[in-house]
Amino acid sequence: MLGGGQLGRMFTLAARTMGYKVMVLDPDAASPAGQMADVHLQADYTDLAALKKLGESCAAVTTEFENVPAASLNELARHCRVAPGAEAVAIVQDRSHEKSWLAGNGFATAPFALVNSEADLAAALTVTGTPALLKVARLGYDGKGQARVGSLDEARAAYQEFGSQPCVLEGFVRLEREVSVVLARDDAGQCALFPLAENRHDNGILDVTIVPARVSGSLAQQACDTARAVADKLGYVGVMAVEFFIAGGQLMINEIAPRPHNSGHYTLDACVTDQFEQQVRALCGLPLGDPRLLSPVAMVNILGDRWHDGGPHWDTLLAHTNIKLHLYGKQAARPGRKMGHFNVLDTDVESALQLAERMRNAL
Ligand code: AMP
Repeated sequence: MLGGGQLGRMFTLAARTMGYKVMVLDPDAASPAGQMADVHLQADYTDLAALKKLGESCAAVTTEFENVPAASLNELARHCRVAPGAEAVAIVQDRSHEKSWLAGNGFATAPFALVNSEADLAAALTVTGTPALLKVARLGYDGKGQARVGSLDEARAAYQEFGSQPCVLEGFVRLEREVSVVLARDDAGQCALFPLAENRHDNGILDVTIVPARVSGSLAQQACDTARAVADKLGYVGVMAVEFFIAGGQLMINEIAPRPHNSGHYTLDACVTDQFEQQVRALCGLPLGDPRLLSPVAMVNILGDRWHDGGPHWDTLLAHTNIKLHLYGKQAARPGRKMGHFNVLDTDVESALQLAERMRNAL
C-alpha cells in the first residue's frame, strides 16, 4: 500500500483479515495504516530504494491517495503488479487533466476553464460567469486550495494567493444535491457498483453520507451508468469513486478519486462486501464481492474539531446498538482533520439521518 492514511488503514485491516500480509509505504512514523501493517516502510513516495523494496517484497501494490507521483507507480510496475495503473492516476491527480479528459470524452461537468497564467483569468471568467471557484490543479482536497471569486480582481488576488500555480476556474453551481458512486472494476472489465450515495458537505468537507440516496430511480441509474463509463474509458482496475453534482435535475461530474472514498465508508457496515475488501479483491485478481446494500444507513465524519474539551463522548454514541464507530488511530486532533466516522443503521434512511445528526451534535 502506497500511503498510510485512514483509507490505507482500512485496506490493511481488510487484507489482513483475508489472510494477506501488508507492507505500507508512508513517511509518517505514526501513520494510521503503518500501525496496522505487517511492515511499515517509513520513507517518501519518491524514495527509489524504498519503492524497489516495496515492489520486490510484494506481489501487488495499490494506493490510497491520488497524489502519489505517477512516476513512482511506473517504477513499482517494473517489479510487481500495480493497480490502478499510473496513466489513470496521472489523469485524475491533476484537476486540469481530469476536467479536460472528462470534457474530451463527453462527460458533463460544471463550466470550467484552465488557468495557467494571470492573463488567462479574464477569458476564463467569461466561460464560467460569476460567482466562480478558483481551484489549484494539484494537491487540493477537502475544499483546500479553493477560493470563491466574484470579480476579475478577486480572481487575480486568489490566483496570487495560491502562488500563481496552474488552476482551474469553475462556474459556481447551485447544487440541489451531491451524490457519488463507488465502484470496483477488475482485469476483465467486470464492474461491481455500490449503491448511489447522497453526500452533504460542510465547508468543503464531507459531513454526512446517506444511502439509499434520495433521488429518482432514473437519475440514480444514470449516475451509475456514467460512473461505469468513466471506469471503462480509463481502463481502470481497482476501486474508484465518481462524485457528482445535481443541478437543474442534471448530473455533472465533480471529481474522480482513484481509490476507495470517504463517501463509501457506509459499505463497512451496510453492504455484503465493503469497499476495502473490494479493493483487496480487485488488486489480488479475486472475483469482485457482492456490493448489495443490507440496510439503510447514514455515515457521519468525525473531525478533529470535536476534540476541544477532553475528546468526544463516545459512551453516548456507543449506547446505541445500531451505531458502528470507526476510529483511525490519529494522534493529533486538528480542526478539519478526519479522525473517524460512524455508521447508523436503521429501518429507513430518514430515521438513520435523524439519529446520525443527534449523535453528531451530542459528540
Ligand atoms: P471539491 O474539493 O472540488 O470536491 O469541492 C468540495 C465541495 O465544494 C464540493 O463537494 C461542493 O460541495 C463544493 N463545490 C466544489 N465545486 C463547486 C462548484 N463548482 N459549484 C458549487 N459547489 C462546489
